[in-house]
Amino acid sequence: MRARWIERWDGPLLDGERPKPRPGSGEVLVAVEACGVGLTVLNCIRGNLGDDPADLPRIPGHELVGTVAEVGPGVDPDWVGRRAMAYFYLLCARCRRCLAGAESMCERLAGHVGVHRDGGYAEWTVLPERNVVPLPEGIEATAATVIPDAIATPVHVAGRARIRPGERVAVIAAGGGVGIHMVQVARVYGAEVAGLEASAEKLDYLERVLGVPAADSTDFAGVRLPAGWGDGPDVVVDLLGTEASLEWGLRTLGPDGRLVLLTTFPGRTVSVSPREMVFRQQTVVASRYASRSELMFGARLVAEERVRPVVGRVAGPGDVDGLHDALRRGDLLGRGALTWTDRQ
Ligand SMILES: [Zn+2]
Repeated sequence: MRARWIERWDGPLLDGERPKPRPGSGEVLVAVEACGVGLTVLNCIRGNLGDDPADLPRIPGHELVGTVAEVGPGVDPDWVGRRAMAYFYLLCARCRRCLAGAESMCERLAGHVGVHRDGGYAEWTVLPERNVVPLPEGIEATAATVIPDAIATPVHVAGRARIRPGERVAVIAAGGGVGIHMVQVARVYGAEVAGLEASAEKLDYLERVLGVPAADSTDFAGVRLPAGWGDGPDVVVDLLGTEASLEWGLRTLGPDGRLVLLTTFPGRTVSVSPREMVFRQQTVVASRYASRSELMFGARLVAEERVRPVVGRVAGPGDVDGLHDALRRGDLLGRGALTWTDRQ
């Protein structure tokens, strides 16, 4: 099968033929239709989510969607022919937290799709049955690639931050893969939303296409939130994770406000004043990926056209490298997608 893969962490993405995998016990074989391309994939390739040489060679890509073509022993054959999307975390599905629906906090987490086992940068991939979630019919493949992370993650944020109707939500890096869906999901929850961005194209898309008031955050000191947001947002979602963005979030947050953290850059710190936070009864809350039921809810939001998948650029297997370059430059609107056609 055609695949793109790495033979060392942070190494080049090779292009060629790999053996087509077969599903083992409890596994399914997926004919990959498309795979999302975002900053997390670049992080995975760099080895930031695991860099054990024993895990090489590795086919990256976790936001994959496709059709189940074959099942291994012990798996319901009813899966065959059904469309599915991958759940990113290699959960156990049996521990206390998995059973409570908090699968991203699994006590026996075995790693990640595209890091600790092969992902969607190939025509075919094999996943544990517990890592596939049904995808409704009628959603085009490249559009569907944003569901398992770029939409599911915002759904999880909405729950973590307890976004309520009428609240004001400011999203930092609102034109990126997660941000551009975060602004839409927050509106599904009834919030009034503003998006912060540093690029003119992304600011324009937010305002003109999505109708989201956008603020230029090239310099956080100059950010102008919508008139009427006098005492600050109820929720700030920080998808950028720089010291400047974190400090802006803490400083700008209104009374009873929640600052949501999602980034994991090593060594980043920010100081908080307990006195100020208590007087203003504020909360800092971290949010980690999503649950499988949140993936299903995300798919329903797309099927019902309540969230519009934003895929700025689609590439074939031979030119996904250009997509990676665009991501590194920060000039990709929304997510990218790798599409698989002419499967043998
Ligand atoms: Zn578990």
